[in-house]
Amino acid sequence: MTIERTLSIIKPDATRRDLTGRINARFEEAGLKIVAQKRLRLTLEQAKAFYAVHAERAFYEDLCSYMCSGPIVVQVLEGENAIAQNREIMGATNPANADAGTIRAEFGESVEANSVHGSDASDTAVQEIAFFFSQIEIIP
Ligand code: UDP
Ligand code: MG
Repeated sequence: MTIERTLSIIKPDATRRDLTGRINARFEEAGLKIVAQKRLRLTLEQAKAFYAVHAERAFYEDLCSYMCSGPIVVQVLEGENAIAQNREIMGATNPANADAGTIRAEFGESVEANSVHGSDASDTAVQEIAFFFSQIEIIP
């Protein structure tokens, strides 16, 4: 049994449609605890830094301006195999390919505006959590 933490972001398309509560219910129903959470709006500089790993991709500029287009909710989810479990709850990157019942299948608007972000590995989870939260903001 491995208790992990992962960074989750509820993206601007989802906050615009007031889906924060419904998305959070998915996490909690699956046994993932929301141990930190805040709502904020990214600057372009912050979005570019967060997604720096994708800097060479054709979608990078668009993605960064989309992520600044409205409020986001950043959160730390904690639970057994939280990183992989959250990726399963989220569904595939492109909502058109996401399994039925996943957040992206139900709520995603497009491959870009796909409602949620989740860390993809333990090293990126540590990095991404530290990008948004200090230790004293994470309350298990
Ligand atoms: N994205 C996009 N076009 C693409 C692929 C990805 O706009 O062709 C966006 C999408 O919002 C995605 C984010 O870039 O969530 C990061 O891409 P990644 O491949 O890391 O997908 P994820 O890990 O979010 O499933
Ligand atoms: Mg990713």
